[in-house]
Amino acid sequence: MQKHRIIVLGAGYTGAGAAGRLARRLRGDDVSLTLVNAEPDFVERVRMHQLAAGQDLRPRPLTEMFAGTGVALRIARVTGVDADRRTVTVTAPHTATEAPAAPAATEATEELEYDTLVYALGSGWNGQDVPGVAEHAHEIASRAGALRLRERLAALGAGEQVLVVGGGLTGVEAATEIAETRPDLSVALAARGGLGDWLSPKAVRHLRAVLDGLGITVYEETDVAAVAADHVTTADGTVLPAAVTVWTTGFAVHPIARATTLELADTGQIVVDDTMRSLSHPDVYVIGDAARATGPGGKPLRMSCASGVPAAWQAADAIAARLTGGKLPKASVRYFNQCVSLGRREGLIQYVTADDRAVRAALTGRFAAVYKELVCKGAAWGVAHPTLGLPTRRRPVVAHRPPRSAQPSGPAPATETSAA
Ligand SMILES: Cc1cc2nc3c(=O)[nH]c(=O)nc-3n(C[C@H](O)[C@H](O)[C@H](O)COP(=O)(O)OP(=O)(O)OC[C@H]3O[C@@H](n4cnc5c(N)ncnc54)[C@H](O)[C@@H]3O)c2cc1C
Repeated sequence: MQKHRIIVLGAGYTGAGAAGRLARRLRGDDVSLTLVNAEPDFVERVRMHQLAAGQDLRPRPLTEMFAGTGVALRIARVTGVDADRRTVTVTAPHTATEAPAAPAATEATEELEYDTLVYALGSGWNGQDVPGVAEHAHEIASRAGALRLRERLAALGAGEQVLVVGGGLTGVEAATEIAETRPDLSVALAARGGLGDWLSPKAVRHLRAVLDGLGITVYEETDVAAVAADHVTTADGTVLPAAVTVWTTGFAVHPIARATTLELADTGQIVVDDTMRSLSHPDVYVIGDAARATGPGGKPLRMSCASGVPAAWQAADAIAARLTGGKLPKASVRYFNQCVSLGRREGLIQYVTADDRAVRAALTGRFAAVYKELVCKGAAWGVAHPTLGLPTRRRPVVAHRPPRSAQPSGPAPATETSAA
């Protein structure tokens, strides 16, 4: 029997996690597993504010992480997905042996065929449609962006102004990290609503106290309407000085999905069922920031590791179950807490309901900072040891390859597996 070809796009928190779990669930004799990623390292995206503030992160080469797992690694950029033909287009620099005469900058394009696709390309920064943002603002949603900001911050002199726009988790983490590392700078945070207005009263009090202690100016109910090289202008015409503007108003998915026939939400995310399978194309699974899945309380899952990682496990288990004729996973994703770093010495753990609403209880202070650090380390450890900590339950594949046309979604079609 020809091996069932599974391709995972993106080796971030969710893609790498899913690839490792699939390797643990399925037999290499039956399945070929390929993990495609643009960068050769796993990027700890939840630490990009630390990288921007000047801290050095531990390198995590994907080749080391996946050595001996049976997952074939492909360092290449995904440029397109044809979900009807079941192909992915990737480009990668020519190697010396492939194109001896080619200049270093040229790239080779290749089409990869799959039987099952796991789409986990994550997201980038949002808001580039606001005038001046694309030209003048910095982002920390990617490593390249965080490194650019790091260089810019290093060049700033004492007293110069840094304005972080966006009062969500990423903005709060960025402002506190920069202010703690560079007490000589004048750091400000602009939030569209009230500071931490989704948190419990105890958490908000703590947040205000920490920001105050770090000397961060907070502009609440402030909508930034335009960004220039040395200032921003708010919706009511106020000018705020900013030698550096850091834009953290949310994440936006990559445009690749928009160019496919996959069913999308208005956010550009691919719509999936509760096994993370595309509603329009049952041989495509989508996880992480790229997926529009309905979570607890009927709300879309938040773009986060907190929900993305368990959803990735769910997808891997569902793929393995459908291929081997096993039982589909029943567990649904739920939230427990929101873990926020406030520099290296302070933190905030806000406990939440299953559907992500703050309850009264919150942990604060040094203990919360240690807790958050352990959560980040645990997430990276889980990715760096993709096949450890999970019992091996490899069952033979019994799936037939469904035809190439899109199929209606719903329970696994009878033709997909021959019952074991
Ligand atoms: C500063 C910061 C702090 C955060 N803090 C938290 C937090 O405390 N808790 C939390 O739950 N979430 C947090 N998040 C959000 C979290 O990082 C994301 O939700 C999470 O990384 C999404 O996982 P993912 O696998 O979907 O995407 P990613 O982790 O972004 O992985 C996507 C992968 O796809 C690769 N890729 C992208 N495009 C291509 C392409 N065209 N070709 C090939 N490869 C490609 C990338 O290189 C990357 O490896 C934070 C985010 C930021 C930026």
